[in-house]
Amino acid sequence: MVLSTTERQIIEDSIRDIKDFPKPGIVFKDITTILNNAEAYGVLMNHLCERYKSYNLDYIAGIDARGFIFGAALAQMLKIGFVPIRKKGKLPFTTISEKYALEYGIDEVEVHIDAFSAIPNAKVLMIDDLIATGGTANAAANLISQAGATCVESCFIMGLTFLDGIKKLEEKAPVYTLIEVD
Ligand code: AMP
Repeated sequence: MVLSTTERQIIEDSIRDIKDFPKPGIVFKDITTILNNAEAYGVLMNHLCERYKSYNLDYIAGIDARGFIFGAALAQMLKIGFVPIRKKGKLPFTTISEKYALEYGIDEVEVHIDAFSAIPNAKVLMIDDLIATGGTANAAANLISQAGATCVESCFIMGLTFLDGIKKLEEKAPVYTLIEVD
């Protein structure tokens, strides 16, 4: 199930580019303008639901923070559980954590140790709004397997194709991007 040209256009038109945010040289892809456009948000969520309803998924894992918005809504549509993968220090129960490199320094994401344990070898879809270098998504995918589940696909509304994040992540599991930005 792929996106039709019309659907892609509606979603693409609803994303706002903010130049030089959060620092000079970055074009920030603002998805708040999808969220406050009921038509575009609906087209996006219906497409994701149509695509993933045949995957027999057990959970959706969303990456902090914009992955929560799409992931939690999709999990409800598919009637399955949602698992947040959070930045370090936010989850209250015992966690597994994974560090990853940023341009300057390191960051860390965490998941609750028992997040997927209700279903043995759970099939998980990982989701975020955007993949750039792939550092965050790679760390999140590692957490899913360390927590005893299988990431069957990673989904991003946008993929920056001038970076090699998608290629790196594809070594772990298939990657689906709705809109490729070059
Ligand atoms: P990365 O780990 O480099 O793949 O970065 C991915 C994370 O940073 C995602 O959670 C994105 O939401 C955010 N991000 C990176 N670049 C952008 C961008 N140009 N516009 C919006 N969000 C971005």
